[in-house]
Amino acid sequence: MILEKSITDNTIINQGYSPQNVNDSITNTMQYLDAVIFSSTPDGLRYHFITAGIKKILGVSSEEAVANPKKLMHMIVPEDFPIFRELVNKVRSRESGTVEYRMHHTSGALLYIRHTAYPVFEGDKLVRIDGIVYNITGEIESRVQLQKSQEKLRGIIETADDLIFTLDKQGSFVSINNSGAMHLEYLPFEINGKHFLEFVSDESKSTIARSFQEILKTKNKVAFDAVFKSKYGKTIVFEINARAIFEGAVLDGVLGIGRNITVRRTEQEKVKELNNKLIEANRIISIERDRAKQKISILEELNRLKNEFVSNISHELRTPLASIIGFAETIDSDRDMPNEMKTEFNQIIMTEAKRLSKLINDVLDISRIEEGKISLVKAEFSIQEILEPLLEQYKKKIEDKGIVFWAELPKQKVYLLGDKARILQVFENILSNSLKFTNEGRITLLAQTLYREFELIITDTGIGIPKKDLPYIFQKFYRVSRPGSEIPGTGLGLAFVKQIVDLHKGFITIQSEDQKGTTVVIKFPIIKQD
Ligand code: ADP
Repeated sequence: MILEKSITDNTIINQGYSPQNVNDSITNTMQYLDAVIFSSTPDGLRYHFITAGIKKILGVSSEEAVANPKKLMHMIVPEDFPIFRELVNKVRSRESGTVEYRMHHTSGALLYIRHTAYPVFEGDKLVRIDGIVYNITGEIESRVQLQKSQEKLRGIIETADDLIFTLDKQGSFVSINNSGAMHLEYLPFEINGKHFLEFVSDESKSTIARSFQEILKTKNKVAFDAVFKSKYGKTIVFEINARAIFEGAVLDGVLGIGRNITVRRTEQEKVKELNNKLIEANRIISIERDRAKQKISILEELNRLKNEFVSNISHELRTPLASIIGFAETIDSDRDMPNEMKTEFNQIIMTEAKRLSKLINDVLDISRIEEGKISLVKAEFSIQEILEPLLEQYKKKIEDKGIVFWAELPKQKVYLLGDKARILQVFENILSNSLKFTNEGRITLLAQTLYREFELIITDTGIGIPKKDLPYIFQKFYRVSRPGSEIPGTGLGLAFVKQIVDLHKGFITIQSEDQKGTTVVIKFPIIKQD
């Protein structure tokens, strides 16, 4: 394509197109443009030319403008006139310039104008001013509109109680709203420029860093909780929703909105804590309920045992009393009773009275031990001292019942420290039970020492104790129920034995098999042996 010389230095004309054609085209186009090109004398009082667009912009034709150049100046909004004058002065001082001011259209409508002027010199002399005027009303209106909506947005951001922020790609604050900063007890300028992680607690740093990685990776909104440390050390929890912001396809930063959930969190934690306490309280209540139930059943059992005891003891008391009264009355009513008979009856009265007294003492002893009122009279004594006479006494009673009796005591004297009378009672109780509950076979007693302990093993081939009763055998009033073959007793003997053994830091155990026999083992610490 061959290009012809241009009509001006700036316009290139294609072959076959004349400069006149170009002028026509420019003139034609200029009337539709929202811009006016002009050229005036340096004083601005005469236009060399002014393009047709002036009609479109201001409602004044080029001819009118050329005829009356001041007309256009009068259309400038008076308050903005100094801006226009400033431009004129600038151009006269040989500089080009651009200003914006307002004008009134001939219809009265307000217009925004951008005016650029260039000084043209010939040698040193300013010969004319060229320029261009744009109608920028549309642009200004959308700028104002944009400003208004930006202000609205800023208003919303500032009045919102939420934390609203933007971060750069590295995670440093670019902006933060006032109320957000206030939640953290800072002013926005103290936060901007610093890294997000500088404001969060150490424990939540790693989770937050992970959330940021996810934000950058997924491009989706990511929600996470962040525990912040305020300027004065308060812990504030925010529930944050954040997403990456892009400029085109390039990552520009992160936008986030956070809601202060500290109170909610604390309330939730309180509720959780209360729930745990409630669960604990319920557990305690159910434990206490079980315990109360257990206590009730123990009390009921004790009550039952007591009732049984009352009826047993009445029977136990009544039997010796009946024979005491019976024999005493017989002696009294028969004046001629031979002396030997009297002596025999007196013997019976004495034995029964002693049984009575023992029974009463047993009851008293047990209650004294339970109340902690019993005082042991401790002294050093030998095992032989109490066992030899006891065996003497029982050997006869046992053999009288047709039972084989065998006993072995240690050769050397074994000494214990304790209440001799009470320990004697212990041995006697065990021996008397063997006698009471054995009808045939053997009763053996083995007394021996093992290291620093004295051990007494009493075995019988009596009726034994059923397995189910063994755990309760040391409870007071507890007696093995044997319907049809009830053997008298109070259920106090073994309870008393256990209490005395314990008071002497001894040990007792009973092994038994129903209908086969019973073995009782008692141990006491030795203080010396000969
Ligand atoms: P009780 O006054 O009834 O003898 P104890 O406390 O001495 O009271 O004994 C409790 C129960 O233990 C007795 O009722 C008896 O059934 C059982 N018992 C104790 N010793 C023997 C034994 N050697 N053989 C069989 N049963 C025994």
